[in-house]
Amino acid sequence: MNSPLFSLEGRTALVTGSSRGLGRAIATGLAEAGARVVLNGIDAARLANAADELRAKGYNVLVEAFDVTDEASVVAAFERLDAAGVAVDILVNNAGIQLRKPIVEFTIAEWHRVLETNLTSAFLVGREAARRMIPRGRGKVINIGSLMSSFARPTVAPYTAAKGGIKLLTQSMAAEWAEHGIQANAIGPGYMLTDMNEALTSNPQFDSWVKGRTPSRRWGRPDELCGAAIFLASSASDYVNGQIINVDGGMSAVL
Ligand code: NDP
Repeated sequence: MNSPLFSLEGRTALVTGSSRGLGRAIATGLAEAGARVVLNGIDAARLANAADELRAKGYNVLVEAFDVTDEASVVAAFERLDAAGVAVDILVNNAGIQLRKPIVEFTIAEWHRVLETNLTSAFLVGREAARRMIPRGRGKVINIGSLMSSFARPTVAPYTAAKGGIKLLTQSMAAEWAEHGIQANAIGPGYMLTDMNEALTSNPQFDSWVKGRTPSRRWGRPDELCGAAIFLASSASDYVNGQIINVDGGMSAVL
């Protein structure tokens, strides 16, 4: 990316859930735009693999393994970064899980797990990042919502509730932090080719439903989120706040 408007040189980006999938692709995109990236996840082997791949490309990579649902672990991770003199300029709240079943079959434990991983995590990690961004007077927060931040589908009720919450949490962050030079926006991916959708892509009926309902007639590739992520992480978006950008092959335009 040659335009200085989109350059992330000198910036540090923490991307939660970046050991694989969309987070890994976003971290790669931000690194390509010049950022130092802090990778996160739980599985140590997957994290090490992602870090090795990015370092092999010559990018500046740090690793912080922590559970985004665990307040003590989140706080401790930011304290480690503080101690190492690492200031997070860009936070991408991406870590998430999905469980699929009818509402009447969900247990309360499953409900909490989905809400905590997809929504509470963005509050927790966002709070720790903002506590440090506010005194510096600048920062970019990008929350990964979903097409389902705005539309419901059967069998994913807690996920849809969490992603709907992400949209309003993003607006709340923007409302509170804009005066401190922080922009908080969200990305709403459509149906993307990642581990999360493995069971769906291999189901011919679901596969043809996605292709039939998406104007682009295909699933999205993880790297196709990078343009929106770089835009929202860079000074090109300094007057964009509290928005959700859907990257979904046009699906939300026609639902
Ligand atoms: P994947 O299942 O491929 O990857 C999930 C990532 O989140 C992994 O890096 C995983 O780490 C990490 N993670 C999960 N739980 C935790 C936790 N408690 N603490 C820290 N890290 C955790 O998912 P996707 O890449 O598909 O999804 C990424 C985000 O995008 C999610 O928020 C998802 O809801 C959203 N999204 C995805 C869509 C899609 O079609 N794929 C569509 C719309 C939104 P580990 O490897 O250690 O398990």
